[in-house]
Amino acid sequence: MATTMRAQAPSPVVSLLSDLIRANTSNPPGNERRVAEVLAPRFRALGFDVQIFQTPDSGKAHFIARIKGDGSKKPILLAAHADVVGVERDKWSLDPFAGEVRGDHVFGRGAIDFKGGIAVFARAVMMLAENHVPLSRDVIFISEADEEGGTYNTGWLAREHWADMDAEFALNEGGWIMKNDHGNVRYVSISTADKSSIPLTVTARGTSTHSSMPRPDNAIFALSRALAKLSAYETPLTITPATKRFFTALAKTSAPPMSTYYRDLVGDDAAKAKRADAVVSRDPLLHSLVRNTMAPVIIQGGFRANVIPGSAQATINLRMVPGSNPAAFVETLKKIVGDSTIEMKLPATIARPSDPSSEDTDLYRALVREAKVQFPGAEVTPYLFQAGTDASAWRSRGVPVYGIYPYPIDADELTRMHGNDEKVSVASLEQGVQMIYRTIVSVAAKK
Ligand SMILES: [Zn+2]
Repeated sequence: MATTMRAQAPSPVVSLLSDLIRANTSNPPGNERRVAEVLAPRFRALGFDVQIFQTPDSGKAHFIARIKGDGSKKPILLAAHADVVGVERDKWSLDPFAGEVRGDHVFGRGAIDFKGGIAVFARAVMMLAENHVPLSRDVIFISEADEEGGTYNTGWLAREHWADMDAEFALNEGGWIMKNDHGNVRYVSISTADKSSIPLTVTARGTSTHSSMPRPDNAIFALSRALAKLSAYETPLTITPATKRFFTALAKTSAPPMSTYYRDLVGDDAAKAKRADAVVSRDPLLHSLVRNTMAPVIIQGGFRANVIPGSAQATINLRMVPGSNPAAFVETLKKIVGDSTIEMKLPATIARPSDPSSEDTDLYRALVREAKVQFPGAEVTPYLFQAGTDASAWRSRGVPVYGIYPYPIDADELTRMHGNDEKVSVASLEQGVQMIYRTIVSVAAKK
């Protein structure tokens, strides 16, 4: 099998992914224009309108390709970020930027997050042109800059070029097509909302003086006491309807005792839910799905040995479930700390977390249907994504966004995302193209 595969030319999605991986877009600095240069000739050859939007940062550019429909419906959009996180090169067993196909996997930084997604989304969209599918709406493909960084991401693009990216609904990265140990797909989770990320600044103040004469009001001690109290505090369960359905699906595809714990976690019995939480939340991903979280990420205070500093400061990264109130969450944290001299400050303006995208759209229904066709027997469920994505540019303007990493992966492959020897299987990529292509045809082809 492996021998015949090597003898054949790689399929279009595989050769596109290899080329995308070779365009090193580690952010910083990004250099996403390299991805635009891989994509532009391919889309132009098929008759797409192609635009490259340069940001004020010389290395960062967004790429948009559009194929016209008859305009009777609003466009559908497929979005994928072009930048990747950097690598620890000495920990890789092969070149992370060679796009090598070894056995039945494509290896390289971004194979899963998210150059694999660019390749699948782009190939599915290109096939509309190759197959001359008559369209009732424009289909827009975007490869975006600066998702892993921030300043010139889709938020910037939306402010500058909204007319070019406005759509009825969109696909983006998000949920998972998760395989079990036997390689069969257990579940397909489609994210309909992302958690939001907010920096909380915690400041302790004391007398600034000579370190030879310490006083009781030492700012570093005060900050340490506050952080120690926060570290011992577990935030309460905050379950959204999508999260409830996700764990119900997980229960259906799991064996006891975990199936029982998953069911109890989102059930009505608070005591059982608490017991289930203690077990389920040993998994950091599942822990993060069912609550607001906080993590200290930066600490500052003091500058020399003979001076007691007048203040010490910690930045705590809050990750909020949609519908939660950040100010109320901070009031709870203040009570936990129980020290009125400790100041806790949220940023002056916080973007309101976007409401979850509706499941009552043609795109969501088509994706669920085609996922079931592609992976018979798999549970398909909505999902709250544990991190942030660039979907907020659309969701905050009322455009529903559905998130999926469009290829089956297993737990090992998931660990390699943002890690070492990142890889995605050739069969998974091809299944993804089929599923996404049929999904787009279903919502965009003339009936
Ligand atoms: Zn990503």
